[in-house]
Amino acid sequence: MARYLGAKCKLCRRDGVKLFLKGDRCYSEKCEIEKRNYPPGEHGRTRYSRRSSYRVQLREKQKLRRMYLLLEAQFRNYYYRAVKMKGVTGANLLKLLEQRLDNMVFRMGFTPSREMARQLVLHKHFEVNGKTVDRPSFQLKPGDRVTLREKSKDLLVIEESLKKYGSRGTVPYISVDVNKREGTYLEEPTREMIPVPIEENIIVELYSK
Ligand code: SF4
Repeated sequence: MARYLGAKCKLCRRDGVKLFLKGDRCYSEKCEIEKRNYPPGEHGRTRYSRRSSYRVQLREKQKLRRMYLLLEAQFRNYYYRAVKMKGVTGANLLKLLEQRLDNMVFRMGFTPSREMARQLVLHKHFEVNGKTVDRPSFQLKPGDRVTLREKSKDLLVIEESLKKYGSRGTVPYISVDVNKREGTYLEEPTREMIPVPIEENIIVELYSK
Protein backbone atom coordinates (compact mmCIF):
# COMPACT_ATOMS: atom_id res chain seq x y z
CA MET A 1 0.00 0.00 0.00
CA ALA A 2 1.45 3.36 -1.03
CA ARG A 3 1.89 5.91 1.73
CA TYR A 4 3.58 9.22 2.32
CA LEU A 5 7.07 8.81 3.83
CA GLY A 6 8.16 12.44 4.06
CA ALA A 7 8.17 14.72 7.10
CA LYS A 8 4.66 14.58 8.46
CA CYS A 9 4.75 17.81 10.44
CA LYS A 10 5.54 19.70 7.23
CA LEU A 11 2.18 18.62 5.85
CA CYS A 12 0.43 20.17 8.85
CA ARG A 13 2.45 23.35 8.60
CA ARG A 14 1.75 23.65 4.89
CA ASP A 15 -1.99 23.42 5.54
CA GLY A 16 -1.88 25.41 8.77
CA VAL A 17 -3.84 22.82 10.69
CA LYS A 18 -3.18 19.84 12.91
CA LEU A 19 -3.61 16.65 10.87
CA PHE A 20 -2.73 14.40 13.84
CA LEU A 21 -0.19 12.26 11.99
CA LYS A 22 2.30 11.60 14.81
CA GLY A 23 0.38 10.11 17.67
CA ASP A 24 0.94 11.50 21.16
CA ARG A 25 3.33 14.19 19.92
CA CYS A 26 0.35 15.89 18.26
CA TYR A 27 -1.27 16.43 21.66
CA SER A 28 1.86 17.84 23.28
CA GLU A 29 3.83 21.08 23.26
CA LYS A 30 6.26 19.43 20.85
CA CYS A 31 3.69 19.70 18.04
CA GLU A 32 5.26 21.74 15.24
CA ILE A 33 2.02 23.64 14.63
CA GLU A 34 2.12 24.89 18.20
CA LYS A 35 5.68 26.12 17.68
CA ARG A 36 5.76 27.28 14.06
CA ASN A 37 2.35 27.70 12.49
CA TYR A 38 3.44 28.87 9.06
CA PRO A 39 4.32 26.96 5.87
CA PRO A 40 7.77 25.32 5.78
CA GLY A 41 10.61 26.65 3.65
CA GLU A 42 12.58 29.84 3.29
CA HIS A 43 9.55 31.90 2.17
CA GLY A 44 7.09 30.05 4.31
CA ARG A 45 5.70 33.07 6.11
CA THR A 46 4.81 34.95 2.93
CA ARG A 47 4.22 32.27 0.34
CA TYR A 48 0.42 31.94 0.60
CA SER A 49 -0.54 35.57 0.95
CA ARG A 50 -2.46 35.42 -2.36
CA ARG A 51 -4.85 32.52 -2.51
CA SER A 52 -7.13 31.80 -5.47
CA SER A 53 -10.44 30.07 -4.73
CA TYR A 54 -9.11 26.99 -6.56
CA ARG A 55 -6.08 26.93 -4.30
CA VAL A 56 -8.28 27.19 -1.21
CA GLN A 57 -10.44 24.29 -2.43
CA LEU A 58 -7.40 22.20 -3.25
CA ARG A 59 -5.78 22.75 0.13
CA GLU A 60 -8.99 21.90 1.96
CA LYS A 61 -9.22 18.64 0.04
CA GLN A 62 -5.57 17.82 0.73
CA LYS A 63 -6.05 18.40 4.45
CA LEU A 64 -8.92 15.95 4.69
CA ARG A 65 -7.26 13.38 2.45
CA ARG A 66 -4.05 13.47 4.46
CA MET A 67 -5.83 13.35 7.78
CA TYR A 68 -7.35 9.98 6.82
CA LEU A 69 -4.15 8.83 5.02
CA LEU A 70 -5.80 8.31 1.64
CA LEU A 71 -4.46 8.42 -1.89
CA GLU A 72 -6.18 10.71 -4.37
CA ALA A 73 -8.03 7.90 -6.17
CA GLN A 74 -9.28 6.41 -2.90
CA PHE A 75 -10.45 9.81 -1.70
CA ARG A 76 -12.24 10.53 -4.94
CA ASN A 77 -14.08 7.19 -4.69
CA TYR A 78 -15.37 8.20 -1.27
CA TYR A 79 -16.63 11.44 -2.79
CA TYR A 80 -18.52 9.57 -5.54
CA ARG A 81 -20.06 7.27 -2.94
CA ALA A 82 -21.07 10.29 -0.85
CA VAL A 83 -22.78 11.89 -3.86
CA LYS A 84 -24.95 8.80 -4.33
CA MET A 85 -26.08 8.74 -0.71
CA LYS A 86 -29.14 10.57 0.61
CA GLY A 87 -28.43 13.82 2.44
CA VAL A 88 -25.68 16.41 2.23
CA THR A 89 -22.68 15.23 0.22
CA GLY A 90 -20.02 16.83 2.43
CA ALA A 91 -21.46 15.33 5.62
CA ASN A 92 -21.82 11.96 3.86
CA LEU A 93 -18.17 12.11 2.85
CA LEU A 94 -17.04 12.69 6.43
CA LYS A 95 -19.31 9.93 7.69
CA LEU A 96 -17.83 7.43 5.23
CA LEU A 97 -14.31 8.38 6.30
CA GLU A 98 -15.19 8.10 9.98
CA GLN A 99 -16.70 4.65 9.47
CA ARG A 100 -13.42 3.18 8.21
CA LEU A 101 -12.09 0.52 10.54
CA ASP A 102 -8.65 2.14 10.87
CA ASN A 103 -10.25 5.42 11.89
CA MET A 104 -12.53 3.68 14.39
CA VAL A 105 -9.58 1.84 15.96
CA PHE A 106 -7.88 5.24 16.38
CA ARG A 107 -10.99 6.97 17.73
CA MET A 108 -11.53 4.11 20.19
CA GLY A 109 -8.09 4.82 21.59
CA PHE A 110 -6.46 1.50 20.67
CA THR A 111 -3.69 3.50 18.97
CA PRO A 112 -2.41 7.09 19.21
CA SER A 113 -2.56 7.63 15.43
CA ARG A 114 -4.49 6.50 12.37
CA GLU A 115 -1.26 5.29 10.80
CA MET A 116 -0.57 2.90 13.64
CA ALA A 117 -4.22 1.81 13.58
CA ARG A 118 -3.86 0.92 9.94
CA GLN A 119 -0.72 -1.13 10.56
CA LEU A 120 -2.32 -3.08 13.38
CA VAL A 121 -5.47 -3.76 11.35
CA LEU A 122 -3.33 -5.02 8.47
CA HIS A 123 -1.54 -7.33 10.90
CA LYS A 124 -4.86 -8.88 11.91
CA HIS A 125 -5.01 -7.73 15.51
CA PHE A 126 -8.69 -6.73 15.46
CA GLU A 127 -12.06 -8.40 15.17
CA VAL A 128 -15.37 -6.84 14.20
CA ASN A 129 -18.31 -8.66 15.77
CA GLY A 130 -16.05 -11.60 16.55
CA LYS A 131 -14.52 -11.98 13.08
CA THR A 132 -10.97 -10.97 12.18
CA VAL A 133 -10.88 -8.07 9.73
CA ASP A 134 -7.59 -7.01 8.13
CA ARG A 135 -8.98 -4.36 5.77
CA PRO A 136 -8.40 -0.78 7.03
CA SER A 137 -11.14 0.51 4.69
CA PHE A 138 -13.76 -1.88 6.13
CA GLN A 139 -16.91 0.17 6.81
CA LEU A 140 -18.46 -0.22 10.22
CA LYS A 141 -22.19 0.00 10.80
CA PRO A 142 -23.89 1.26 13.96
CA GLY A 143 -23.92 -1.53 16.53
CA ASP A 144 -20.63 -3.06 15.34
CA ARG A 145 -18.22 -4.05 18.10
CA VAL A 146 -14.44 -3.85 17.71
CA THR A 147 -12.34 -6.14 19.89
CA LEU A 148 -8.80 -7.46 19.97
CA ARG A 149 -7.98 -10.99 18.92
CA GLU A 150 -7.06 -13.22 21.84
CA LYS A 151 -3.38 -13.29 20.87
CA SER A 152 -3.29 -9.48 20.64
CA LYS A 153 -4.87 -8.63 23.98
CA ASP A 154 -1.53 -8.07 25.71
CA LEU A 155 0.10 -5.91 23.05
CA LEU A 156 1.98 -3.24 24.95
CA VAL A 157 1.43 -0.51 22.37
CA ILE A 158 -2.35 -0.95 22.66
CA GLU A 159 -2.28 -1.14 26.44
CA GLU A 160 -0.27 2.08 26.64
CA SER A 161 -2.59 3.83 24.20
CA LEU A 162 -5.77 2.75 25.98
CA LYS A 163 -4.40 4.12 29.25
CA LYS A 164 -4.57 7.55 27.60
CA TYR A 165 -8.08 7.05 26.21
CA GLY A 166 -9.99 10.27 26.75
CA SER A 167 -6.95 12.52 26.92
CA ARG A 168 -6.97 12.85 23.12
CA GLY A 169 -10.67 13.69 23.02
CA THR A 170 -13.67 11.42 22.57
CA VAL A 171 -16.61 11.34 20.17
CA PRO A 172 -20.25 10.70 21.16
CA TYR A 173 -20.89 8.04 18.51
CA ILE A 174 -18.43 5.57 20.04
CA SER A 175 -18.39 3.87 23.43
CA VAL A 176 -15.26 2.23 24.80
CA ASP A 177 -14.77 -0.24 27.62
CA VAL A 178 -11.09 0.13 28.38
CA ASN A 179 -10.99 -2.80 30.82
CA LYS A 180 -12.55 -5.19 28.32
CA ARG A 181 -10.49 -3.62 25.52
CA GLU A 182 -13.46 -3.18 23.24
CA GLY A 183 -15.28 -0.39 21.49
CA THR A 184 -18.74 -0.05 19.94
CA TYR A 185 -19.86 2.17 17.10
CA LEU A 186 -23.16 3.49 18.48
CA GLU A 187 -24.78 5.65 15.83
CA GLU A 188 -24.12 7.45 12.58
CA PRO A 189 -22.68 10.85 13.47
CA THR A 190 -24.13 14.15 12.36
CA ARG A 191 -21.66 16.63 10.91
CA GLU A 192 -21.57 18.54 14.19
CA MET A 193 -20.41 15.44 16.05
CA ILE A 194 -17.34 14.85 13.87
CA PRO A 195 -14.34 16.78 15.27
CA VAL A 196 -12.69 17.56 11.96
CA PRO A 197 -11.86 21.24 11.32
CA ILE A 198 -12.59 21.16 7.60
CA GLU A 199 -14.96 23.07 5.36
CA GLU A 200 -16.19 20.06 3.44
CA ASN A 201 -18.55 22.15 1.25
CA ILE A 202 -15.44 23.66 -0.36
CA ILE A 203 -14.23 20.17 -1.26
CA VAL A 204 -17.61 19.35 -2.80
CA GLU A 205 -17.32 22.53 -4.89
CA LEU A 206 -13.91 21.41 -6.12
CA TYR A 207 -15.09 17.98 -7.25
CA SER A 208 -18.38 19.14 -8.76
CA LYS A 209 -16.71 21.50 -11.27
FE1 SF4 B 1 0.94 17.67 12.79
FE2 SF4 B 1 1.66 18.55 15.21
FE3 SF4 B 1 1.19 15.99 14.81
FE4 SF4 B 1 3.37 17.11 13.71
S1 SF4 B 1 2.97 16.86 15.87
S2 SF4 B 1 1.94 15.66 12.71
S3 SF4 B 1 2.55 19.17 13.28
S4 SF4 B 1 -0.34 17.65 14.61
